[in-house]
Amino acid sequence: MFSMTSLVRSKTNTFYNWAQTFHSEPTDWLYPESVADVQEIINQSRMQKRTIRVVGAGHSFTPLVATSDCLISLERLTGIISLDDKNETVTVLAGTKLFDLSERLAIHGFSLENLGDINVQSIAGAIATGTHGTGITFGSISTQVDSLTIVKADGSLYTLRSHDDEFAGAVVSLGTFGIVVSVTLRVVKRPIYHYESAKVQFIDLQRDLFQWIERHQHFEFFLFPHSDTVHVKTMNPSDHGPEDITKHKTTSLVVENYLLQCVSSVCKTFPKSSKFFSRLSSNAVSETSLHAPSDELFSTARNVRFVEMEYAVPLEKLPQILAHIRTALHTSNYNVHFPIEVRTVKADQLWLSPSYERSSAYIAFHMYSGTEFRPYFKAMEAIMDTFNGRPHWGKLHTKSSNQLRVLYPRFQDFLQLRDEFDPDQMFLNSYLRELFYH
Ligand SMILES: Cc1cc2nc3c(=O)[nH]c(=O)nc-3n(C[C@H](O)[C@H](O)[C@H](O)COP(=O)(O)OP(=O)(O)OC[C@H]3O[C@@H](n4cnc5c(N)ncnc54)[C@H](O)[C@@H]3O)c2cc1C
Repeated sequence: MFSMTSLVRSKTNTFYNWAQTFHSEPTDWLYPESVADVQEIINQSRMQKRTIRVVGAGHSFTPLVATSDCLISLERLTGIISLDDKNETVTVLAGTKLFDLSERLAIHGFSLENLGDINVQSIAGAIATGTHGTGITFGSISTQVDSLTIVKADGSLYTLRSHDDEFAGAVVSLGTFGIVVSVTLRVVKRPIYHYESAKVQFIDLQRDLFQWIERHQHFEFFLFPHSDTVHVKTMNPSDHGPEDITKHKTTSLVVENYLLQCVSSVCKTFPKSSKFFSRLSSNAVSETSLHAPSDELFSTARNVRFVEMEYAVPLEKLPQILAHIRTALHTSNYNVHFPIEVRTVKADQLWLSPSYERSSAYIAFHMYSGTEFRPYFKAMEAIMDTFNGRPHWGKLHTKSSNQLRVLYPRFQDFLQLRDEFDPDQMFLNSYLRELFYH
C-alpha cells in the first residue's frame, strides 16, 4: 500500500478501456496532483517491488494499461506550462487532453500541425503509441515532440531532447521508459483550411491515387465494402475567412454517430444486411465544402463503439494492397458495414514508429462492438503481412515479438535502451512482457 494519505484515488475498482476490449482491476488507482506526487509513487513502488502502468484517456484497443497492480492517471496534471511564441513551441503537462490543448493554443493563435480523427486522447498517450492524422508531408503527433520530461524508475526527473541519441528510442515508448510528466511540442500559426468531402469512383481514385496524395496537404479516403464508391476528404490551406461550421458538425454528429448507431444495431441483429447498408452509406456520402481553423476540422465525435485494427504499409504499395483488399472483400462475404479508412504519414526516425524510415499508408479496419470481427481482421492482417505492414500499437493486432523484430529494425535497440531506463521492469505488464520478449 502507498503511505501517501493525501493522494486522490479512483472511486471504482475496475478499469475499462474505451472500446471495452479489456478490463483490469488495479490494486491502487491513483491521481497524482504534482510531479512530486509522481516521484513519490515511483519511489514507494520501487521499494515495494511493485509495477506501475500509466493511463491517458484509455483509448487504446490493446491492453497497454491493463494491470492488477498500480494504475496512475495524470488527469490532474494538465494545462500549458509555457508558450514560446518566437520559437513556436508549447510545453504542456502530460495529462492534457488534445481538445483542451487545441482550445488553449487557439486563444494564442496557434495549433498543432496535425491531429487524428478524435481529440480526446491525452498528449502523452497519443505520443506513446505514434498516434497520427493524415498528410504525406506530416509525421505522427510523436514527431511534433521537441522534448519529453519523464520520471524514471529511480524517481529522478529526466529530460530527453530531440537531438539526444536516446530520444528516437524513447518517444514511441508505450509508456515503458518512465512516466512522462511534461512535453514540449512544435506548434504552428493556426491555419484556415478549405475542407472538401466528395464521392469518387474507386477506379478513378486508384488511377490518380498519388496525385490525390501529393496535391492535398491532408488527404484521406474511406473504402466501403461491397461498393465502388469511395468517400474522399481533403484539407488545404486557404486565405478564405472562417465560416460557421455548426451545421456541418451537427450533420456529422447525426450521420456518423446516431445513424451509424442505428445501422450498426440492425447489422448486428441481421449480419447479412451489412452489404446493403455499406452500399447505402457509400451513396449517402455528402459533398461538402467549407472553411474553418484546422483544429476544428481534424477531429470529429466518435460515439459508436467499435473495435479497430490498423496497419502502416509502404506507401508505394498502396494501389496493389487496395486491389488485394477489394478482392478479399468480394470473394469472402464478411459481414462488415464500417468503411476502411486510408491515411498517409511521412517517414520518421522514431524506432518504434510504424512509419520508421518509410512513408506510409495507414489502413484501418473497424467492426461494430460485439460483432464477430476475427475472421475479417485475420484475412486483412494476412494481406498487411504480405506487404510487411507494421501494426499501430494502440489498435488490435496479433504480432509476436519475433515478427516485430523483423518489422521494426531498431526493436532490439529499443529493448536494450528500455532495460537501461527500467532495469527492474517496473513499467511492464504481462501483455507488454509477452509482446516484447516472447
Ligand atoms: C475512437 C478512436 C479513434 C482513434 N483515432 C485515432 C487516429 O485517428 N489516429 C491514431 O493514430 N490513433 C487513433 N486512435 C488510437 C489512439 O490515439 C491511441 O491508442 C492513443 O494512444 C490513445 O491515447 P490515450 O491518451 O487514450 O492513451 P492510453 O490508451 O490510455 O495509453 C496509451 C499508451 O500511452 C501510455 N501513456 C499514457 N500516458 C502516459 C504518460 N504520462 N507517461 C508515459 N506513458 C503514458 C500508456 O501507458 C499506454 O502505453 C483512436 C482510438 C479510438 C478509440
